[in-house]
Amino acid sequence: MSDLPDRISLREVGPRDGLQNEDPVPTDAKVALIDQLSQTGVRRIEAVSFVHPKAIPQMADADDVWRQIRRAAAVRYSALVPNSRGATRALDAGFAELEAVVSASDTHNRKNVNRSTEESLDDIAIIIDQAHQAGATCQVIVSTAWGCPYEGEVPVQRTVAVASRAVADGADSVSFGDTTGMATPSRVQALVGAFRSRHPQTGVNLHFHNTRGTGLANVLTALELGVADFDASVGGLGGCPYAPGATGNIATEELIYMVEDMGVATGIDLAAMIEAAAAAERIVGRTLPSQVLRAGPRTRTIAP
Ligand code: ZN
Repeated sequence: MSDLPDRISLREVGPRDGLQNEDPVPTDAKVALIDQLSQTGVRRIEAVSFVHPKAIPQMADADDVWRQIRRAAAVRYSALVPNSRGATRALDAGFAELEAVVSASDTHNRKNVNRSTEESLDDIAIIIDQAHQAGATCQVIVSTAWGCPYEGEVPVQRTVAVASRAVADGADSVSFGDTTGMATPSRVQALVGAFRSRHPQTGVNLHFHNTRGTGLANVLTALELGVADFDASVGGLGGCPYAPGATGNIATEELIYMVEDMGVATGIDLAAMIEAAAAAERIVGRTLPSQVLRAGPRTRTIAP
């Protein structure tokens, strides 16, 4: 495993992608969770999204959450924005990192934001300019990158074409989102390979959901390809709006547990992240899917 990256950059997305797919929780619980995560050594947290409260009531208190958290100097906080109005709110609130999102699948994009992928890409070009003018960065997230709940298969060329448009418009980096957990190691290889051959200089983040149990296998494949930037959510918080009862993102503590044992540093204290996962579980009031939360690290022993 000598050619794996020495370290990865991990973005904690539980407060946004996770909680967005849970029953609404009080503002102070969100603030407490972000504050606890800020002390684990994680360097990037996707804190909120600036979406219309009618579309996603779970994120209606984004401004309050952002105002109330204790921002750690070592942590970069980001906000997800679905359109230029959301970008204006995020920049006004002082975010220095935006994530603009577009679906590779036209049907999914229309269901989500009521316009075509092409129309969203036009708006994203404006968001990128808005961000840059404010001295902020903008990552473009291509969701349903490996498949769509409505269209099924999304061809690699389609996902690469959408990402390429974002790169041409000035995106600082690209994230591929496996929104419904349809990626497998061979499909990760195909998409990352195709994108890299066209854009070798562009930073790539991968965002896996563990809907079908292939999340960590996908990460391992990506590591072998040299990808060193991943999303994960504490406890495996979240779910899938298209598959009731399905699990959410890959769990942060499971990702840390696996890669650190392969000699890939994350900079995160695993025990502290497991404690944060236990707190997340208390906040949402249901058993979260993380198995490392249940069993602890392999070095945990019990009295004989
Ligand atoms: Zn997601």
